[in-house]
Amino acid sequence: GSFEVNLKKLLDENISPEGQELINVVGKWASQLGMRVFLVGGIVRDLLLGHKQKDLDIVVEGDALVLAQEVGKTLSAIKFIPHERFKTASIILKNGQKIDFSTSRVEFYQHPAALPEVEVSTIREDLYRRDFTINSMAIEITYGHIGELFDPFGGLLDLREGIIRVLHNLSFVEDPTRILRALRFLGRFNFKLEENTEKLLVDAIAGGFLNLVSSARILYELKLIFAEKDILKILKFLKHYGVFQEVFPKAFYEEDYLKRYFNYTVEYFRLLKEMKIPWLHGVMGVYAKNLEGIEEFIKKYPLTGEEEEVLRQGALGIKEALKLLSLSREVKGVEIFETLTKLPPEGYWALYLLLDRFRARERFKTYFEELRFIKPEITGEDLKALGLKPGPLYREILHKIKMLKIDGVLKNKDEEILYVKQNYF
Ligand code: ATP
Repeated sequence: GSFEVNLKKLLDENISPEGQELINVVGKWASQLGMRVFLVGGIVRDLLLGHKQKDLDIVVEGDALVLAQEVGKTLSAIKFIPHERFKTASIILKNGQKIDFSTSRVEFYQHPAALPEVEVSTIREDLYRRDFTINSMAIEITYGHIGELFDPFGGLLDLREGIIRVLHNLSFVEDPTRILRALRFLGRFNFKLEENTEKLLVDAIAGGFLNLVSSARILYELKLIFAEKDILKILKFLKHYGVFQEVFPKAFYEEDYLKRYFNYTVEYFRLLKEMKIPWLHGVMGVYAKNLEGIEEFIKKYPLTGEEEEVLRQGALGIKEALKLLSLSREVKGVEIFETLTKLPPEGYWALYLLLDRFRARERFKTYFEELRFIKPEITGEDLKALGLKPGPLYREILHKIKMLKIDGVLKNKDEEILYVKQNYF
C-alpha cells in the first residue's frame, strides 16, 4: 500500500519502557543468532489502531527455543518453559510478565476442523495460516530493522477501511471457529465483512461447519464474546447470520430485552466484582427469557461443576424470586432474604429486568442495597465471652439474630446480647 506509517513512533508511544527494553534485547540476540524476529497478530493490529499494548506475541524465523533461552538469560528470567513439540517457548520475567516465543510455522489440516500438523517455515507462511488480513501483519524487531512492517496480504489497507477479510476461500472450512471470531471483530471494531468473505461465511454456516468443531472450542469463543465491551452488537451479528440458535440452543432472542441487559451501567461494574464467574452473567442474559433453556446450554458445553452450579442456581433462583417478589400480599424482609440469598450475583440483573411491577423492583432493591449486607454486630468472640461453648450452635444463633435484624426486631448490639441471654441460657 501507499500508506505512510511511522511504526517507530507507534512503538515508542504505545509500548511500555520495559516492553521496549525487551524488544531491544530480543532484536539484538536474534541478529547475533542470524534469525529474524517479529511482533505478530493482534498486537500489530492494535498498535496500528493506536491502542495501548499489553502482551507481546513474538514469532521467530529460526529456533524460538534457542532465542528465548538467550533472552531469558540476559533478562534474568525466573522461568524458561520450552515446548519442544510445538517449537515454542515462554519466559517469565522477575516482574511476573510472560513472553511467548514461537517459531514461524505452517499448519496442515488433514481434514476440516482437525487439529493442525505443524512444520517450520517463513514468517510469510506463518502469517498465511492466520484468520483475517488485519491480524496477519508483522512488525520486524530484528536489530537494525526495528519497526519495518511486513504486510503481505493488505492488512493495513483493510484496517484503514474497516474490513474483515479472510486470506483464502477455505479459511472458514479449515477452522469454523473463525466464523465466531469474524463476528466478534465486526462488533468490536464496528467493521464490515468484505463481500467474498461474507459469502464464504454464509456458505460455511449453511454447510453446518460449526457443528464439526468441538463444543469446547465454541465455548472458548463464547467466553471471549462475553468479555467484549459491546456484547449486544456481536449477538446481533450471531442472530443475523443464523448462528445464535446454534450456539445458544433454546434461548429466545429478544432484542429489546438484550439491549437493556447489555447496556452496562456503573452498578454493573460494581456487581462484577461479586461474581465468581463473570462471563456467566452473559449467559444468564441470553437465557433470561427462557430459563428452561439453560439446561440445553449445560448439556451442550463442557462446563466445570461450579459453572453448572451457578447457571442452575441462577435459573432456579430467578424463578423463585419472580414468584415471591410479585406477590400482591405483604412480603417480609426475611422471606426476601431467604429466597434471594440463593440467587448468585450472575443472575441479579436478569431478574431485575424481568420484574415488571414497580413494587417488585423496589423489593429487589431493598435486598440488593440493604438486606444482603445486614450482619449481626455480635461475633463468636462475644458468644464465648458470654460463656457459651463454641460449636455448631454459634452459627445457628448468629443466623437467627441476622433474621431478627432483617425483620427490624433487633436494632443494636445491646439488644442482640440481651436476646442471647434470654433465649440460650
Ligand atoms: P484479542 O484482542 O481478542 O486478543 P487477538 O487477535 O490478539 O485478539 P488471539 O486469540 O490472542 O487474538 O490470537 C492471536 C493471533 O493469532 C490473532 O491475531 C490471529 O493472527 C491468530 N489466530 C488466533 N486464532 C486464530 C484462528 N482460529 N485461526 C487463525 N488465526 C488465529
